[in-house]
Amino acid sequence: MTDNRPRRTFAVISHPDAGKSTLTEALALHARVLTEAGAVHGKGNRRATVSDWMAMEKSRGISITSAALQFDYRDHVVNLVDTPGHSDFSEDTYRVLSAVDSAVMLVDAGKGLEPQTLKLFRVCALRGIPVITVINKWDRPGLSPLGLMDEIEQQIKLRPTPLTWPVGEAGDFRGVLDRRSGEFVKYTRTAGGATRAPERRMSAAEVEDVDAAAWSAASDEHELLTLDDADHDQERFLAGETTPVMFASALQNFGVAQLLDLLLELAPGPSATAGVDGTVRSVDDDFSAFVFKVQSGMNSSHRDRMAYARVVSGTFERGMVVTHASTGRPFATKYAQALFGRETTSVETAAPGDIIGFVNAQALRVGDTVYDGPPIDYPPVPSFAPEHFMAVSARDIGRYKQFRRGIEQLDQEGVVQVLRSELRGDQAPVLAAVGPLQFEVVEERMTNEFTSPIRLTRLDYQLARRTDAEGAQQLSGLRGVEVLQRTDGTYMALFTDKWRAKNVARELPDVRLDELPAGG
Ligand code: GDP
Repeated sequence: MTDNRPRRTFAVISHPDAGKSTLTEALALHARVLTEAGAVHGKGNRRATVSDWMAMEKSRGISITSAALQFDYRDHVVNLVDTPGHSDFSEDTYRVLSAVDSAVMLVDAGKGLEPQTLKLFRVCALRGIPVITVINKWDRPGLSPLGLMDEIEQQIKLRPTPLTWPVGEAGDFRGVLDRRSGEFVKYTRTAGGATRAPERRMSAAEVEDVDAAAWSAASDEHELLTLDDADHDQERFLAGETTPVMFASALQNFGVAQLLDLLLELAPGPSATAGVDGTVRSVDDDFSAFVFKVQSGMNSSHRDRMAYARVVSGTFERGMVVTHASTGRPFATKYAQALFGRETTSVETAAPGDIIGFVNAQALRVGDTVYDGPPIDYPPVPSFAPEHFMAVSARDIGRYKQFRRGIEQLDQEGVVQVLRSELRGDQAPVLAAVGPLQFEVVEERMTNEFTSPIRLTRLDYQLARRTDAEGAQQLSGLRGVEVLQRTDGTYMALFTDKWRAKNVARELPDVRLDELPAGG
């Protein structure tokens, strides 16, 4: 049976330790978890991860894979797409943002905006993904709320439009003023935060009696915000000009139901999507989906390969045979259900916004489209500006064949970008990554899956710019610069630091040097 309930598909963007795992669990507690698609974290002694596929993932207690968690909330289905969240960053963290319709930016009240949050925010901005901001850990001493609003406006150029405003400063949290209804939502500390915190609402008159000073301070600031044009405006939010803000304590379960309500009320659902040739597929057309993540080697006893796809249009039915756009070949989806959890019974259908996983999907690559009905091919998932570079070679030259095959496979999966140059030769290409963790994945898989242990040598480059053949010539021989070619033909100029890149741009103004924030 087709499940036609509206979808909300979002990701949480945050810096490590802001509380993403805590919030995820709190959301799951409030909603009813339907399926766990290989998802969430296994930090400390918290609930173990569903996909503990790699020994490395287990030993480090982090989630390397990204998948989705699906909840039932009110009359909606909510898909939370997991962004791998460790101080080590990877391209997957960025790529999942191509599969969501909105993002929740989780900010630690004591720390404000942090580097990883900013990086992820930039990807959202480039893709036009509306962002809801949650200021977390308000139960602890932190920055002033107006100061935080300033910081958001200065650093990400979005106008913050708070929907709730804290009553009591950070660390002395009494509750929030609901700026749209004018009510007070009382904060109740719960033991360990493990239960669903009751949300008590009361009118302004009732609060006056209890918390006069804190309430009147919050009311004053609320009025200031209104005068400053900081009220929510749905159109401006969807246009990426403003970000609704709310204050929460994920640990204490405060604000969690409010966030779910906001997602339902304000965040956009799936919408019509254009293919590379401009053809537009509306959500109720025939089935189509695109792959945003491919993962292999989950089970060392047999080679498997999982491709995660986001449904763009139509209804997915288990077992249907679809067309793989890049080869034109049929693709059978009979194993599609296996993704959904360990003991969960198979999921028979999926709707636009849902994430499905195909097992044994040898043919599928990141960015590929699969469809039913008339042809459609969605634009490729962009690759992102790498910041870490390593030269790689086979430890045992006798295993060069395995080495080459492995590197080619990891390149195709998008685990790392592979860069080559005549100078370095084919036996020692350069691997480029957004985060250093990607190299560990390469090392592990080259050893265990492709049976060719590798040697990695760190290169002293910090950033890459896109250039062209002519630029490559002009740059060759300059100190602190090296030009290599990505497998897709793009010329990449690697620089030891940004000052050198700036200097070269100044001295050779004719050389093409594009920044690669995203979409490179
Ligand atoms: P992640 O790295 O973003 O997934 O962060 P975690 O969810 O693991 O949280 C990091 C730490 O902050 C943990 O010790 C949490 O218990 C704590 N934490 C998360 N949310 C809150 C909150 O709302 N209030 C307080 N006081 N601590 C929190």
